Amino acid sequence: MTAKEITALMDSPTVEDIALIEKAYAVAEKAHRGVLRKSGEPYFNHVFETAKILAEINMCPQAIAAGFLHDSIEDGVLTEEEIRKEFGEEILFLVQGVTKLGKLKYRGAERHMESLRKLFVASAQDIRVIIIKLCDRLHNMRTLQHVRPDKQKRIALETLEIYAPLAYRLSIRKLSRELEDLSFPYLYPEEYKNVKELVKQKSVETLPHLEKFMKSVKKALAEEGLTNFNTDYRQKGLYSLSKKIIRKGGEIEKVYDILAMRIFTESVSDCYKALGIIHSKWRPLPGRIKDYIAVPKPNGYKSIHTTVFTGDGAIVEIQIRTHEMHRADEYGIASYLRYKDLKNVQNKELGWFNQFLPKSINNLIHSTKSDKPTPAWIKELAESHLATNGEDMMEDLKTDFFSQRIFAFTPKGDVVDLPLGSTVVDFAYAIHSDIGNHISSVMVNNKIASLDKELQNGDCVEVITKKGAKPNRKWLDHAKTSMARKHIKASLGDKAE
Ligand code: MN
Repeated sequence: MTAKEITALMDSPTVEDIALIEKAYAVAEKAHRGVLRKSGEPYFNHVFETAKILAEINMCPQAIAAGFLHDSIEDGVLTEEEIRKEFGEEILFLVQGVTKLGKLKYRGAERHMESLRKLFVASAQDIRVIIIKLCDRLHNMRTLQHVRPDKQKRIALETLEIYAPLAYRLSIRKLSRELEDLSFPYLYPEEYKNVKELVKQKSVETLPHLEKFMKSVKKALAEEGLTNFNTDYRQKGLYSLSKKIIRKGGEIEKVYDILAMRIFTESVSDCYKALGIIHSKWRPLPGRIKDYIAVPKPNGYKSIHTTVFTGDGAIVEIQIRTHEMHRADEYGIASYLRYKDLKNVQNKELGWFNQFLPKSINNLIHSTKSDKPTPAWIKELAESHLATNGEDMMEDLKTDFFSQRIFAFTPKGDVVDLPLGSTVVDFAYAIHSDIGNHISSVMVNNKIASLDKELQNGDCVEVITKKGAKPNRKWLDHAKTSMARKHIKASLGDKAE
């Protein structure tokens, strides 16, 4: 376990980058020294592994350094002042963000998970904070066996319902796949066992065919003059496979991509060339050709899929994409955050990202400080429809939660979740009845607002209280929530409704 292990994973790090990682390593190691995890291993292992995952998905050096430090404030082994002094504002901001996110608990019904996912995004202020949190969770999931059984279930559920879908939304398949597959056995042990056994059987059956077939394909491509490509195969994640089997009515025979061959090319035209060569030699299954390069999936996924008869009785799915597309698929948003100046990245390449946080990319990347309490993108996020795949869209429509709720923020960035149409009076009472009962004036987004002002998603609300201030009857017209009305009536001396 050395700093070198991390820097070796980074893509052409500068001397400064390496120095930063070495320093973060040393400071974190010293800070957590003597502290053990439940498993009995040094606590430092956890922050090291978190940093390592961040390096693996190609995150920027600042995020990796923050990975090393992510638990230091929470665990009281470093102060904010020490981090600022040693590492500066940007890294401190990331560590604070992760610390804050760790405390964020949405106390709502399980069907409101979707809103928690959105709340997570909205509260993080910098997408890197979420990604650090995802890597932190991934390592915690890898070591979940050391946790109490009742806690295991809760953490696994949270991972499957919140963290994995977030990783998926951010198109970081490398993370979403593993988060899903690690949660799966804790939540659905029977299904997990069945699918695992099924895949084992299938692999024994299919693998020899696949390997032979891959050789033939490579040969065919080379014969047609296509030489600049790589191939491999991948096994479908167990959780997503299990969902797919359910979708196919339990018929595993209809799932062709348990093992899929992949071809990575240099250019888009080579993708189509490869497809042409393959189809001229092997008969494709009708209706199974999907061109996600011409029409990418909503989360930005690009690839050509086809399924062919191998000629020796097997059926194999082939996925063809460029190296660049593959990188974007595995690392998603993380692969773009490395670019220092995102203005150089073509807008269309970020198409899927824009759907997630529209028009705000520069804001997001460059606003590393949280001096503005309500970054513009929070509003945009709330107003926009997030990039969703079909299933999530259905879920959105079913719960329709976000369209009925408002997320407003205190100047400190705490989230207050209110029903649609709520006013600043509801906001004040939602924080505390004492604050509601002594409203003197209210600022919304740094502007004085009247008490009947309806809140919009992402509004930053500051309630100024005065000892002598108290509710009057007009406030009842401004209050939408029953909690606010109850307190106002009590204060006016009315009987309860
Ligand atoms: Mn942690």
